[in-house]
Parts: sequence; C-alpha cells; structure tokens
Amino acid sequence: MITVSGVSHTYRVGPQPVRAIDDIDLTVADGTVVCLFGPSGSGKSTLLHLLGGIERCQVGEIIVDEWRLNTLDARALARYRRQHVGFIFQAFHLLPALTALENVEVPLVLAGVRPAERRRRAQALLERVGLAERAHHRPDQLSGGEQQRVAIARALIGEPRLLLADEPTGNLDSATGERIVALLLAEQRARGCTVIIATHNETLAQHAQQCVRLHDGRVVAAVPS
Ligand code: ADP
Ligand code: MG
Repeated sequence: MITVSGVSHTYRVGPQPVRAIDDIDLTVADGTVVCLFGPSGSGKSTLLHLLGGIERCQVGEIIVDEWRLNTLDARALARYRRQHVGFIFQAFHLLPALTALENVEVPLVLAGVRPAERRRRAQALLERVGLAERAHHRPDQLSGGEQQRVAIARALIGEPRLLLADEPTGNLDSATGERIVALLLAEQRARGCTVIIATHNETLAQHAQQCVRLHDGRVVAAVPS
C-alpha cells in the first residue's frame, strides 16, 4: 500500500524556485498497475523519484508498505531503494563499460550477493527478457529496445515490491514499446508487485487499474480506469 499525503516538492537551482509537485494526495493498493499521465513538466518524474527514494520527500508524508520515506536518513533511503524498488528510466541509464549481464548484476553486487549466485540470477533474468544471447554485449552494441530490456532485468533482479517506470517506451518505436510494456505487465502478474508507469501513451490505460493525471504538479484526476 502506498500513501502520499500533502506532498509538495520544490527545486531550488536558479534564482526562481520551481514547485514541481504541489500538495498531492494519493493512495495505491498493493499489486495495482497505475498509469501516470500528464504533459511534459507536470511533475511525473518528480513524483516517481519521490516514490522511489531518489528525491527526498521535503513536505508531506510518503508511506510505501512499512517504509516512511520522509523519516529515513540517506542510508536508510538507499536501503529502501535497494530492497524495495525497481526503477526503469526513459534513457535506460546502463553502465556503458559493463556487459548486459554485468549491468543486470549491479544491484546484487550492492546487496553483497556472491558472484556465482549473482551470475546465475542475472543470466536467468536475461533469458526471461529474451536476451540470453546478448549477455556479453555492451550497451553500445545493443538496440534501444534491447537496452531497455537489460534495464528491466536490472530493475527486476532484486524482486522489488514496487516497480517504477518513467516513460519506459519514450525512446522506442511502438512495436518495441509494446514488448516492453508486456514485460512489465507479466512481471506484475507473476509476482503481484505494484507497477507505476509514467507515460504519454493513452492506450496503456486499458491495462491499468488506476490512472492518475497530473497538471502543474497537481493531481487533476485519479480514477480507477
Ligand atoms: P515531467 O516528468 O512530467 O516532465 P518533471 O517532474 O520532470 O515533469 O518536472 C516538473 C518540473 O520540475 C518542471 O518544471 C521541471 O523543469 C522541474 N524540474 C524537474 N527536475 C528538476 C531538477 N532536477 N532541478 C530543477 N528543476 C527540475
Ligand atoms: Mg519526466
């Protein structure tokens, strides 16, 4: 269960602060597929970063299962990200010097899992996303869709309860994008995790139990679809 109460988030970089999230309340039940819609700049990424513990919650309260994110220090927040969250970015964010297999293993390296066990689990996940034969390729030797599948395998390897995807198909053609979405939905069905997808693709709403629409950092509609 996710509860977001009275959450606001302001970026202070230039002289003018930017209020990216403005007093959001939201509840998401376990095992839900949520679509997060909204124009560019409406706060989708910021909300995902807050939910994923990438940005610290400044104002309000975010509770994800047993984790109260606003009370966690940097160390605990890192543990939350590692143990609870899988994050998929639009731009993949793979490590360029590592092979596909090594990229998938990274979270397990951080979690202190033994090398043989890491390798076995990463290999199994690459198989599941259909990339067993690309295990030793580096990101620049893979297509965009393949890179995103590696990124998904990396996000799934810790068996996260919460899977967050930020425009995961934004850089892909529509057929490749459909395959990526199918993978996320299959993972949700197999493990019952919660999946939140920020997207511009309205056709995804048909797969979601809940659609949240943002505008200027505010929720303008949060309805079961
Ligand atoms: P979306 O993902 O819907 O496009 P974002 O959450 O990325 O929206 O952005 C919301 C607002 O916050 C925008 O005005 C954007 O310029 C600003 N913003 C996002 N990230 C940062 C950042 N790291 N530093 C400063 N401003 C940011
Ligand atoms: Mg964004």
